[in-house]
Amino acid sequence: VLAPGSTIGILGGGQLARMLALAAAPLGMKVHVFAPEEDSVAFDVSSARTVADYDDEAGLAAFAGTIDVATYEFENVPADTAAFLAERVPLRPGARALAVTQDRLVEKSFVRDLGVATAPFMGVDDVASLEAALGRLGRPAVLKTRRLGYDGKGQAVIRDGDGAAAAFASIGRAPAILEGFVAFEREVSVVAARGPDGGFRAFDVCENEHRGGILATTTLPARIAPETEAEAVSLARRIAEGLDYVGVLAVEMFVVREGGRETLRVNEIAPRVHNSGHWSIEGAETSQFEQHIRAVCGWPLGPATLRGPVTMHNLIGDDVTAWPDLAAEPGAHLHLYGKREARPGRKMGHVTRLAPSRRD
Ligand code: AMP
Repeated sequence: VLAPGSTIGILGGGQLARMLALAAAPLGMKVHVFAPEEDSVAFDVSSARTVADYDDEAGLAAFAGTIDVATYEFENVPADTAAFLAERVPLRPGARALAVTQDRLVEKSFVRDLGVATAPFMGVDDVASLEAALGRLGRPAVLKTRRLGYDGKGQAVIRDGDGAAAAFASIGRAPAILEGFVAFEREVSVVAARGPDGGFRAFDVCENEHRGGILATTTLPARIAPETEAEAVSLARRIAEGLDYVGVLAVEMFVVREGGRETLRVNEIAPRVHNSGHWSIEGAETSQFEQHIRAVCGWPLGPATLRGPVTMHNLIGDDVTAWPDLAAEPGAHLHLYGKREARPGRKMGHVTRLAPSRRD
């Protein structure tokens, strides 16, 4: 258990690290952010910073000397970086969580081996294996790079008439996975925490809407049956236990209607706090960020109880120009990430409202 006054090291300096640092402060914890970019937005709210590349061993060793635990805000922390830090300080979540979630083929195989349903999938290494996989899985199908994809990048939907060679070229001919297309009714996620003692606490299931491969809105409660909600949480728990996980994780799932019943297919595991959990800052008794800090410090997990219906809208690219209206709107909780330039597709902030605002 880390005492107040301890220092949490965070790899990555984006908005997730920034909101983790903001949640660490009320618990009396300090944060040291390690990131390669000089203008990392987490630096604005951290007590210490290191600007260095993830393979800079001198920089990592100095960083490790100042922190009591290391964590991260993104799953693409290089394996060597994780191993280097783990020799010096507790790394939470551990290297296994990174190894499994960095590679979509390893991740889907891990989930399937737990007996949890996913989209049908096959590994693809070249055009010939892609053609074979298309023969087995049919069309439409979704081709994704095994590594380094996010927000719909490194992905291609292959429909009738689309050529395998062109699709493989469009993802850079990288090692890939082909998934059968899931005709889902909705997308949900479970954001949950597991402590070093194995204690587990899940937030209520989040209903997510993506636009152009990027999360647009999260709404709670999710429009799913209570049995589906219980099943979703139980799948997330099996995944967390299978990874011997410490910290907050998110499991994204598709809800599929089969013979009148809702069933779940796991799509992706994020070994970190997640955009679909941002609503919890105002909408839950404990935010996902505080929960992650509690978990990696070995503190008791806080109650994850939902305070009431809540919606979170991402402010992507130019959406952020609406900030004066949002700032003037009573009940709109505005979060801006401090990024200087609003490029298209870039997450600039989010706004959370604690009242139902469904359009249906
Ligand atoms: P991912 O990068 O795997 O999270 O995928 C981004 C988004 O693409 C998902 O949130 C879905 O909306 C969609 N998608 C991904 N995989 C599939 C699939 N196998 N079938 C249908 N839609 C998918």
